[in-house]
Amino acid sequence: MGNITDKIYDFINAGVVVFDTSYRITLANPYAEGLASDSIIKGKIGDLFELEEAEQEDIFTLSLNKAYTVNCLGRDDRTYSLQMNAVLDDYGDPYCYMCIFMDITREVNLISKLEVANNAKTSFLTSMSHEIRTPINAVIGFNEIIARENDTPSVKEYTEYINRAARHLLSIINNLLDMEQITVGKLVINETHYDLSEVIRDVYSINAVKAKDKGLELKVVSAPKIPKFLYGDNVRLQQIIINLVSNAVKYTEKGSVTLEVDYWAREEEDMDLIVRVRDTGIGIKEEDRPHLFDLFERFDQDINNHIEGTGLGLPLTRSLVELMGGRISVESEYGKGSCFTVTIPQKVLDYSSVGIDISDSAGSRRRYKASFAAPKARVLVVDDNEMNLRVAEGLMKPLKIQVDRVVSGYEMLDIIKTKHYDVILLDHLMPKMDGITAFKRMKKDTSHPNQDTPVIALTANAIRGMKDRFLEEGFTDYLAKPVEPGSLEEMLRKYLPAELIEEPGSEPEPETEAGPETVAGAAPAAGDGFTPELFDSVDGIDINLALTASVDMAMV
Ligand code: ADP
Repeated sequence: MGNITDKIYDFINAGVVVFDTSYRITLANPYAEGLASDSIIKGKIGDLFELEEAEQEDIFTLSLNKAYTVNCLGRDDRTYSLQMNAVLDDYGDPYCYMCIFMDITREVNLISKLEVANNAKTSFLTSMSHEIRTPINAVIGFNEIIARENDTPSVKEYTEYINRAARHLLSIINNLLDMEQITVGKLVINETHYDLSEVIRDVYSINAVKAKDKGLELKVVSAPKIPKFLYGDNVRLQQIIINLVSNAVKYTEKGSVTLEVDYWAREEEDMDLIVRVRDTGIGIKEEDRPHLFDLFERFDQDINNHIEGTGLGLPLTRSLVELMGGRISVESEYGKGSCFTVTIPQKVLDYSSVGIDISDSAGSRRRYKASFAAPKARVLVVDDNEMNLRVAEGLMKPLKIQVDRVVSGYEMLDIIKTKHYDVILLDHLMPKMDGITAFKRMKKDTSHPNQDTPVIALTANAIRGMKDRFLEEGFTDYLAKPVEPGSLEEMLRKYLPAELIEEPGSEPEPETEAGPETVAGAAPAAGDGFTPELFDSVDGIDINLALTASVDMAMV
């Protein structure tokens, strides 16, 4: 055994060095000796590796409690992984230090190459997202305007299909981008105060059209005393529940889909929100269940090949749940149905308001009314893309806002010198001068009449975290493209001066072809003829929201 140990010591492709308690080398195997031209015996660790005095000392002291590992540069310019172990006597004092090191230059180079490739992938995705979202923005926007301005049933029907297809494409891109952000650890959870009832109501609205089309019953069952006002990331929570409910609807041919919302109070402010999504669908085979959350996995392709999907939804859902500190599980019986359960810790803001109420979307179709009008307000839209400008203008038409459009940062800097605006919508990516530079120049010039004008960044760059960047730069807010008509309306209401806002009812109803017959929801449709006839009347559905939601409303 002694011989073999000696042989290992002599031939191993790693350095073995023993230091005494004054950190001097007392023993070195041939590999370690080979690193220096002279003998290293009696030398210091610094003779082998490029280390500052303090770092050398640290390596020894940090190895007293347990083996200490660190990567460092050798005197031969190669990278080594070094492990130091203090060898202790019976009293716990060190009597020598044993160091083993291995050349990891190849691995380090590989990792840096991978990092370069990974960065290239991220920037590819970012620019692709911009390239793809910009035309989708135009498609969705103009489609919306066509639907509003045209009453022919066949045109309405076609615009609905265009909308669904464009939304589906958008959801695939968004899912891909989110997954990428999670992989590089950049996806952040944004917590805020929110109303759980609203989250559930929207999930219901968004899925109800599809469920009804398939003849499925979509039910919401909630614990009667569930607190209503919570603190957490409502956007991600909604994304999680939408993914599960839309899957349940997709993979169920007959019967029902039930969304159960329950809770478990842990401490004063803390509770676990429990969401179960049950369906009477095709179910998932036992052998497929362990792979359910793997990227791009899809099952039963022979019977499901007519169902659109990418296999991204569940892995993304699980990642989001875990990012929020929760967990997800599934029970399923093949051929009978499945039940996905998500448990996510949330904070309770108020125990006095309880219950989930989806009744204001249930029972009747809300008629659309622009939530306000602002005929005296002036808004400037800056975008290098003519189509985007026209979409933004078209979407603001029902609000009667006076809209000016310019196609570059330079033109914006010119026009704001003489004209005052109540809100500026400024595109991010523009040639020559981007939105951020234009914004900075605008802020630097103190002579124009738009010193206090709220500036909202507008961008097709869907990478999350962009919002923070814009806010850090000093923008008032951020709108992602494709601009949702509802979000634009909300944003304008928030930032236009209150005295310019005319509440509905404070002015005569707009006289239009559609008049008050327009449908409820997020889209500002009144006044320009958007009628819902082409959409089936569905109780409990906010049809506009259903049509505008960026979710996987795949056409089965
Ligand atoms: P996608 O639905 O886009 O294919 P997901 O990641 O959401 O991707 O789901 C992965 C796979 O898991 C689906 O392709 C489907 O085979 C299966 N699956 C998901 N949800 C259900 C469900 N409720 N019932 C039956 N199978 C499901």
